[in-house]
Amino acid sequence: MIGLLSRIASFKIGRAIKSIKTLPISLAFSVTGRCNLSCKTCNIWNSEPKEELSPGEYRDIFSSIGGRIPWLTFDGGEPFLRQDFTEIVAGACRLLKPRVVNIATNGTLPELIYGSIREIAGDFPATQFIVNLSIDGIGERHDYIRNKAGSFSKVRETFNKLRTIKESNFSLGINTTVSAYNIDYLPDILRYCVELGPDSYLMELAEEREMFRNSGSGICLDQKKSIDALKFMLKEAGRSSGKRFSALTRLIRSRYYDLARGVIEKQKRTIPCLGGTAFGHVFPNGDIWCCSVKKRVMGNLKEAGYDFKKVWHSSQSNRLRREISSANCFCVSANAVYSNMLCRICFLPQLVQNYLLWKTGYFK
Ligand code: SF4
Ligand code: SF4
Repeated sequence: MIGLLSRIASFKIGRAIKSIKTLPISLAFSVTGRCNLSCKTCNIWNSEPKEELSPGEYRDIFSSIGGRIPWLTFDGGEPFLRQDFTEIVAGACRLLKPRVVNIATNGTLPELIYGSIREIAGDFPATQFIVNLSIDGIGERHDYIRNKAGSFSKVRETFNKLRTIKESNFSLGINTTVSAYNIDYLPDILRYCVELGPDSYLMELAEEREMFRNSGSGICLDQKKSIDALKFMLKEAGRSSGKRFSALTRLIRSRYYDLARGVIEKQKRTIPCLGGTAFGHVFPNGDIWCCSVKKRVMGNLKEAGYDFKKVWHSSQSNRLRREISSANCFCVSANAVYSNMLCRICFLPQLVQNYLLWKTGYFK
């Protein structure tokens, strides 16, 4: 965490000195659009084209960045469907030296996931690997949302296998997407997931994002239900349940829920968005978007000869940054909100404030 905060501090200094061209502190890579599930909350699995960058192309991109990116996220589709996924992540670790690598998976490929994580966690001890398994319901409800019988038992199997990994640079997380399909089961899902004993647990409101190609899907909660759900998450994040969760993890999580609640209540951003500046998203065809929610394309890495900086520092990217700073879009995407809140000068005082509010029972 200290290493991450020091990188964020240098990012902020770089931004303050306008002549320094800063790299993002967080980059997400969707390595494939393929998926072995067809969830009701997402339409990636049903979308074309299915282009993918090769490990060699990724290596060229990572080399061209020419610096460290402290927080990397890998997702898909289902990233472990790629036989060369371990090679891609290893290339990123070698060339970008991240503090944290976060991998989002539906958890249906236990052996593959286990083998891959054992290998990379062992090879890169200076990086913290977090695997986030997606659990959206218990038993049949999970299978119903995933559109595939047996997916719940697979994700449980993956959880049990990963739980046997003892490397200190590995953390096992669970994420739940809260949608119209599971809102009525929230307390049970939370209790179930926390009792499994993950190292972290995050609930995130379902959103219509251009990345998921799920516009008009009707998965989102209305404003009142969203606020009630976030209040519930906030209250639960402050409890000491989940003996593996560190106090800092719970505190940061509660800050996220609190910010998300404010966004939904006000229907606007409550802190500035650094999409395309502090964070960005690379898609399987090489496009870089400023964020995963709105399709603002900074450029294409293939067309730019795999030169990340050429796209990141282009006039098109600068134009999109200006557009974002004055745009009225808002979202509660965890990746975006986490990056935005970590980059704020008042981040630490606000954590302390949240801590004191818990203590006084404000969130009860
Ligand atoms: S939500 Fe994830 S697991 Fe489900 S279809 Fe989309 S990419 Fe696949
Ligand atoms: S507020 Fe959300 S949707 Fe708008 S640019 Fe930022 S991350 Fe993207």
